[in-house]
Amino acid sequence: MEEGYEILIRGLVQGVGFRPFIYRLATAYRLNGEVINRTGGVTVTVECDRETADRFIADIRNLAPPAASIRSVEVRRTGTGGFSGFKITPSIDAGETITEVSPDIAVCDDCLADLATDQGRIDYPFINCTNCGPRFTIIKALPYDRAATTMAPFQMCKGCAAEYSDISDRRFHAQPVACNSCGPVYMLKAGDLNITDINEILQCISHRLAAGTSVAIKSTGGYNLMCDALNEKAVSELRLRKERDRKPFAVMFRDTDAIREYCYLEKDEETVMLSWRRPILILRQKKPLAPAVSSGLNTIGAMLPHMPLHYMLFKIIGTPAVVLTSGNLSEEPIIKDDLQAERDLMPISGCVVSYNREITNRVDDSVIRMIGGNVSLIRRSRGFAPQPVELNRVAEGIFAAGAEQKNSLCIGKGTQAFMSQFLGDIKNVATYDYYHETFRLFSSLFRFTPSSVVCDMHPDYLSGSFAEELAEGNGLPLMRIQHHHAHAVSVMAEHHLTGRVIGVIMDGTGYGTDGNIWGSEFIISAASDFERYTHFDYLVMPGGDAAADEPWRMAFSCLYGYFGSDYDFTSLKLFRTIDEKKLAVVREMLSHGINSPLTCGAGRFFDAVSALLMLCTKASFDSEAPMMLESAIAGITDDFYPFAISETVCLGQTFHEIIRDIGRTDVSLIAARFHNTMAHIILDVCIKIRNDTGLKEVVLSGGVFQNRYLLEKSLYLLSMNKFNVYTNHQVPSNDGGISLGQLLVAAERRGLCV
Ligand code: ZN
Ligand code: FE
Repeated sequence: MEEGYEILIRGLVQGVGFRPFIYRLATAYRLNGEVINRTGGVTVTVECDRETADRFIADIRNLAPPAASIRSVEVRRTGTGGFSGFKITPSIDAGETITEVSPDIAVCDDCLADLATDQGRIDYPFINCTNCGPRFTIIKALPYDRAATTMAPFQMCKGCAAEYSDISDRRFHAQPVACNSCGPVYMLKAGDLNITDINEILQCISHRLAAGTSVAIKSTGGYNLMCDALNEKAVSELRLRKERDRKPFAVMFRDTDAIREYCYLEKDEETVMLSWRRPILILRQKKPLAPAVSSGLNTIGAMLPHMPLHYMLFKIIGTPAVVLTSGNLSEEPIIKDDLQAERDLMPISGCVVSYNREITNRVDDSVIRMIGGNVSLIRRSRGFAPQPVELNRVAEGIFAAGAEQKNSLCIGKGTQAFMSQFLGDIKNVATYDYYHETFRLFSSLFRFTPSSVVCDMHPDYLSGSFAEELAEGNGLPLMRIQHHHAHAVSVMAEHHLTGRVIGVIMDGTGYGTDGNIWGSEFIISAASDFERYTHFDYLVMPGGDAAADEPWRMAFSCLYGYFGSDYDFTSLKLFRTIDEKKLAVVREMLSHGINSPLTCGAGRFFDAVSALLMLCTKASFDSEAPMMLESAIAGITDDFYPFAISETVCLGQTFHEIIRDIGRTDVSLIAARFHNTMAHIILDVCIKIRNDTGLKEVVLSGGVFQNRYLLEKSLYLLSMNKFNVYTNHQVPSNDGGISLGQLLVAAERRGLCV
């Protein structure tokens, strides 16, 4: 019997070719009805029998466009409405409507094929369709319509307009639709050169790469700097000019074959790599590129082409791999404005390739590491932002300010958490401006008015000052959330965990309720509150922040703390390489407690071991010492060092044994044993907590869990011992995920249950 069915589909279904897809599917089914963009989703009405409706709905789920993500499908029976045929009804801006904004989508295979065959788009580097192209980076307002994007100044030509309005066309309502005669164009500037022909531009870039020089190129979400990744002189020259420390550069490879030549690429890694999000993946290195690419590490941050220009370039350049790094001055946000690019990047590269479409929202490349077969986000940006995280609580009106380094902010709309793209370290003035800019953007884009504000407990975080001003200025309540509680709750938020769980947070730093620096936290965590169960022994950080920059200081402090002031430091090679005066100053600090805050941050213990093994005594970028330590692991061992768990966790015996091993045992083995020790501590404390409380759900978070070896080992040991373990997949486990945790704590405390 024929009836009417109203199907409400929620999720990321706008700006991803969803309505044309529904249209084609309904037409194939010969259904009468309509599809319309509605509040928070798309409504499809069809008239058919029950069985057909079921098949149709199953096909919607199974065949949806790649970038769409269906969160829920609700079906309601209605009367038959006398539709003739199937139509796309224009969307109504209902005012209260907020819809999701699609992240940017890598160019699709159909469009790449069109580059050779579509007469109006031969070699057109801004080709796109409803399945691909820029989204978040060009949007100014909702609803997502061409007039509300930075494509507005480009008047569609007849051909494009026809495709744009032809329901059966792949470019139907593709807002950035354009072609050679009407769309944006690239231009290259270098010295007196000023080139606008795309093939000449490609030739020029190719010559520069071959000559060992670099190029600044405007990408989807900002400018990148590019050079040949096989040319050591070119890479080190770029490092020098960019004033970039040893922090690894990302590398774009021609294709997966090229990746396989230089990296180990597992099947799951390949799948993520080829996905429309096209992130950077941290892969294990097989064959070295230019050494300056990732100085000393055994990993490569690899990505594949995602813009038409990248594909066109790899067709003509000799090298299979180019360095592609953010175009910025160190610590500043990625540059998106053309004038600033010329001012700041021309001196670095001598050549700037830009295009005449404005970037509204900048995004960096996202960075992922596959851990235990799952996505672990290190940087959440292009291809991910601003896709929301679904909560099991109403978080409407909550603004979460995030942390400080790797900052992201987050706003609550209904039961959704809209987290910003990676913003960076907001201590940097330009990055703090970017933070303000992003807050304004998210407020207007998602029609957000804050009703409560939440931030970190740290008294000196700029995100905290911002939150204070926002709360005071608007008479709103302000909540301060402990850093590691927020880390734990970020995992609870992702997995909809309720009740109490065991939180294991291995982190760098975070302000504790006792005023010390925390970061090896075992907590009993509920979404609203937490109780600290235990942590590693406090260590002294001689010189405060200087100790985080100079891991040898942490090594000294560890031995001083565990073995006393009489310890024979010069028996270790490490301390024989350090200037005696510096050693004396550090000793002074330790004995008198001058400028010596206490920390139990797990990262500092990794620092100490990395320094003792002479892998990294002075860090040139955040986490370098722990990364070098993980990188040193080779071969397999289950051995671990002894440790003691009482009120706190004592690593005295661990360090005693490590020192005994130094010089006698391979560094790679010591590194592995130390990692295993950490995993065994985690296991043993969790067992102790389970015995005390009966809890067996464990959440693992904190920046230290970006360490693949440690996380996989911990996951293995915990699951072998019948714990249910949860980690971050939608947001980073580092401080980039803090704002999500803060948001849920605030929502929970407000007590609005769904
Ligand atoms: Zn396409
Ligand atoms: Fe943290």
